[in-house]
Amino acid sequence: MPPDIESFTLAYHYARHRTTADGDEGTGFTTRQEVNIIDLGLVAPDGVQVGASGSSKTEIQVGKTFATPGYRPFPLVPGEWRILLGAYKVAPQGVTVVYELTFSPKRMRLFKGDLHAHTLASDGVLAVDELARHALRHGLDFLAITDHNQPVSADSLPRLPGLTLIPGVEWTHYRGHANFLGVDQPYDEPFFANNLEEVRARFASAHRRGALISLNHPFDEQCPFLFDWSELPFDCLEIWNGPMRESNLRAVGLWQSLLSAGRKLPICGGSDYHRSQLFLFPGGPTTCVYAPSADPADILSGLRQGHAYVTFAPDGPVLEATAEEALLGDSVPFPGVREMQVKVEGLLAGDIVQVVTGSSSTPLLQADASGSFQGQYVMEAPGFARIEILRQFIPGLPNLPALIANPIYFDAS
Ligand SMILES: [Zn+2]
Ligand SMILES: [Zn+2]
Repeated sequence: MPPDIESFTLAYHYARHRTTADGDEGTGFTTRQEVNIIDLGLVAPDGVQVGASGSSKTEIQVGKTFATPGYRPFPLVPGEWRILLGAYKVAPQGVTVVYELTFSPKRMRLFKGDLHAHTLASDGVLAVDELARHALRHGLDFLAITDHNQPVSADSLPRLPGLTLIPGVEWTHYRGHANFLGVDQPYDEPFFANNLEEVRARFASAHRRGALISLNHPFDEQCPFLFDWSELPFDCLEIWNGPMRESNLRAVGLWQSLLSAGRKLPICGGSDYHRSQLFLFPGGPTTCVYAPSADPADILSGLRQGHAYVTFAPDGPVLEATAEEALLGDSVPFPGVREMQVKVEGLLAGDIVQVVTGSSSTPLLQADASGSFQGQYVMEAPGFARIEILRQFIPGLPNLPALIANPIYFDAS
C-alpha cells in the first residue's frame, strides 16, 4: 500500500467453471461444472483481518470510511497488506488466478456538510441513522453529531456510503455552548463547570485529545456565549447558526473585528438541527470544506486550516478562491503575492460578489442573470481578503449573506 491512498479496489478472476459440449453423442447437451473455487480475504500490515468474503465477491472496495460488506472500513496504512487466497477447490491441472489492484489516491476536493445537529440523544427527534439518511437526502457529504453534553463514539455511528459521520458533543452550559468534534470523549469529568478555570480545563482537555473546538452561536437570542472566550482555546467561530439573522450578523461582525486586529480565526456554520421546521433543515447552513479525502480527520483538518466557506444550503453558490498555490485560509507573502483569483458558480440574478478586507468592501460583480463568475482582486496593502456573496432572498427585504468565506491572508514580508 503506497502512502496517501483514500480507497482501493481489489478484483480477481479465474476459470471457475468448465463447459463441455456433448458433441459426439449429438444430444445438444452442454455440461457446466464448477471445477475451481478460490476464496478471498484481506489482512492489514499489523495482522488484523480486514475482511473475508469466501468466493461470493469477485471485487471489493476498502477505505477508511467505507468498505464493501464483508470488509470493514480500515485506515489504509502504507506497508505490506496480504491477500488471503483460499484454495477451496482446484482442478487437477491447476488454475491461474489474476488479481487487479486499483488505488484511488487522496485528492483535494470540496465536501459539503453540517457541523451541528441534535438527535434523540438530546432534544432532537430523529435517531442518528434517521438523521444521517436525512442529511444524505439533503445532499450532504459529512455530518457532525453534537448532542447536548452527551458525547457519541465513532464506533457507534452508522456507516452510510457517501456520508462521513463525525463524532462530537455540544458542550452546553447556561453561560455558553461549544462543539467538540472528532473525538469520542473530550474530557473525563462531567460537563459542568462553576468558573472560567473549570471551563478552561474542559477546553484544554478536549484540545489535548485532538478535538476541533468551535465556539457556538456567540450572540444567540437564548444561549449567548457569556464566558470570557478570549481566555479559552478554540479553533473555529460558528458565525452562522441556523437561518441567517441578527445574532449571526453580530457574530460575523465580531469575526471581522478579530480579523482586523490580526487574528487568523477560521469560521464554520451549523444548522443546529433538532426537527424540521420552516427554514430549519440539515445543511442550513452548509459548511463547504476543501479536503483531500472523506476521512473525518482530513475534513476537520481542512476546517482547522480555514479551507472552508459557509453557504445557506447544500445547493448554495460554489466558491473557489486562490492566490497562486494558496487556498482559502492560507497565508501568502505580500507584496510577492497580491492577487486573489475568484471563481463562483450558482449565482442568481441580483447576487453581489464582494471582497471584504480590514478597511473596505469592494463589489466584484452584481449579476444581471443566473450563472457563474470568474475574476480577480488585487491587494494594495497587506491584510486579509475574504469573499461574501449577498442575495435578496425575499423581494422587498434587504440582501443577506448567501455565502461567507474564510480569508486568504496576505502577510507583510
Ligand atoms: Zn447551542
Ligand atoms: Zn445545538
